Amino acid sequence: MVQRNQMIRLKSEPEIAEIARGGAIIGELFAVLQDVVRPGVTTAELDRLSEDFIRSHDGAVPAFKGLYGFPGAVCTSTNAEVVHGIPSRRRVLKDGDIVSLDVGVRLNGWCSDSASTFTVGDVDAATRRLLEVTREALDRAIAAAVPGNHVGDIGAAVEGTVRGTGFAVVRDLVGHGVGREVHEAPQVPNFGRPGQGPRLLDGMVLAIEPMLTAGAESIRTLDDGWTVVTSDGSRSAHFEHTVAVTGERARVLTASARPVAAST
Ligand code: MG
Ligand code: MG
Repeated sequence: MVQRNQMIRLKSEPEIAEIARGGAIIGELFAVLQDVVRPGVTTAELDRLSEDFIRSHDGAVPAFKGLYGFPGAVCTSTNAEVVHGIPSRRRVLKDGDIVSLDVGVRLNGWCSDSASTFTVGDVDAATRRLLEVTREALDRAIAAAVPGNHVGDIGAAVEGTVRGTGFAVVRDLVGHGVGREVHEAPQVPNFGRPGQGPRLLDGMVLAIEPMLTAGAESIRTLDDGWTVVTSDGSRSAHFEHTVAVTGERARVLTASARPVAAST
């Protein structure tokens, strides 16, 4: 989706503030969804609620609706689905499921992109651990996103978090720059070597998004042309924030109004 030679477009402070306005809507939405995700809810209902919530903010639209032809407002990926799950009235969430919700907002011509994996009812300890490690990988990746570091430091932070846990990092899907478009340069892989890849500069806005599996790293796309699942049927978790590389530490532009707990 992102061309290798594409220019990396740096953002000014006012532009970052605009992206943060849209990002805050996603943060608020996730706080709402935390109370809505429960057994018996369909992924179509989550999609509808999310679209209504986004559009209730003046000028804001769901950035994923129609993007490359995607039919939903948000991506709803359950259990072994990694990303790009299509919301459906037939997909009723059950006790013990997990569901990753990936949301994009476009506001005043600027995009933001964030994902979170939610537990449905009572979820087994191994799955809760998968979510914890994925979120920790995101936190450590964000901490590595400082001026002077390189894109490879972000991926190395993800890999370093996951090493020894028994979980695997999905390598075929990557994070990306965010701005006027949802997907801009550079690609931000969830693996890499410190000091490798493009240098991180003040004013870069990046979507950092580790995707982990409880089994092998291999993935495939279902016949619907969208839903990406783990090849071995193991469960997958996905956490994502849009961050601005500025000053001493990256600024999270899609933070939740209150902490989104994985264990509730
Ligand atoms: Mg996303
Ligand atoms: Mg993204």
